[in-house]
Amino acid sequence: MRLFRSTASTTLDPYAADLAAIHPSLRMRVSARAKRLALRLDAKTGLIYLVMPKRASLKSALAFARQYEDWIEKHAAREPDAIPFVDGAVICILGQDRTIRVEHNPDIRRTTITLADQALIVVTNQDDPSLRIARYLKTLARSEITRIAHEKAAVINKPINAISIRDTSTRWGSCSQEGNLSFSWRLILAPLPALDYVVAHEVAHLIHMNHKTRFWALCEKLSADFAGGHGWMKKHGHNLMRYG
Ligand SMILES: [Zn+2]
Repeated sequence: MRLFRSTASTTLDPYAADLAAIHPSLRMRVSARAKRLALRLDAKTGLIYLVMPKRASLKSALAFARQYEDWIEKHAAREPDAIPFVDGAVICILGQDRTIRVEHNPDIRRTTITLADQALIVVTNQDDPSLRIARYLKTLARSEITRIAHEKAAVINKPINAISIRDTSTRWGSCSQEGNLSFSWRLILAPLPALDYVVAHEVAHLIHMNHKTRFWALCEKLSADFAGGHGWMKKHGHNLMRYG
């Protein structure tokens, strides 16, 4: 085992075992600006950062963290509760909360799913239609996202080569040099401004393949509610992973 490593990103490794001994979700962040030791919760990842001023000693930082073990335990990452697609579950579809209503009928030959104002009505012969419901939502996502993307691409007069709908956990959308757009089907479960913003973001990449000022200006222009959509994705986007 080597104690010293050359790259900056791994220099905190020697602390890892000490941090893990306090809590597996505890991480260290050395800060030039921090004046005192502090614990910060990253709500998105559920990780807790032990913020250490440059001049503080590791020993004092670890002692500080140990002192707040209860607080860390209470706030650190737990897997957020999953929301399965079962009878009675309330899910937001295309910006509207709807209750899943499952009617079992052994006599029918295939499952039918209907999107009503306040419900998703599933008539099925299957014991567990959750995969069928997920497939329905993916199909719905494909048609809605495709429609919105083409509308926005027409505004900037740029062709879309192809649109694919995936189940990605690391990004909500992407755009390739060739004009291929890809989106997470889970956006169908987000409020409309958020769905709209992600589509606007990827369509804006058809012109600007970067995140510079002009890209953001175009993204804002193409979004129905940029602040609302962008803000929601930043704050709540990770929750979309809980469904299904
Ligand atoms: Zn981007």
